[in-house]
Amino acid sequence: MCQDCVKEEYPDRGTVCLDTGTYLANLRECRGCGHKDTLGVINSTTSTTQDSPQEVTEYDHVCGNCNHVIATHAHRFWVEDDYQYYEMSCMLCGEAEDTRCCYPNDPRLEASLF
Ligand SMILES: [Zn+2]
Ligand SMILES: [Zn+2]
Ligand SMILES: [Zn+2]
Repeated sequence: MCQDCVKEEYPDRGTVCLDTGTYLANLRECRGCGHKDTLGVINSTTSTTQDSPQEVTEYDHVCGNCNHVIATHAHRFWVEDDYQYYEMSCMLCGEAEDTRCCYPNDPRLEASLF
């Protein structure tokens, strides 16, 4: 990984968890060749951990021109107590986490109305 290519390392993205794609707005330029318009993705893997089931997606962001590795992207997803949890960590795309209820009516949301 290479912090010279990004504007901000691990920016806070709130609840925007990406398991594909690239946060291009945070790319300064490729240190290797100065290119900044296209990024590719290599080494994409998705695995599931056994004991506490989590789906882990990882891939590397590389310069589309010279294949310089800019950042490694990690995304995790799991279900716990009727809620879906998402987590993203990437020097380029930033850090984010999100929680969603598995049901259309989120009891926590309704509780907060009163
Ligand atoms: Zn770099
Ligand atoms: Zn490059
Ligand atoms: Zn990323």
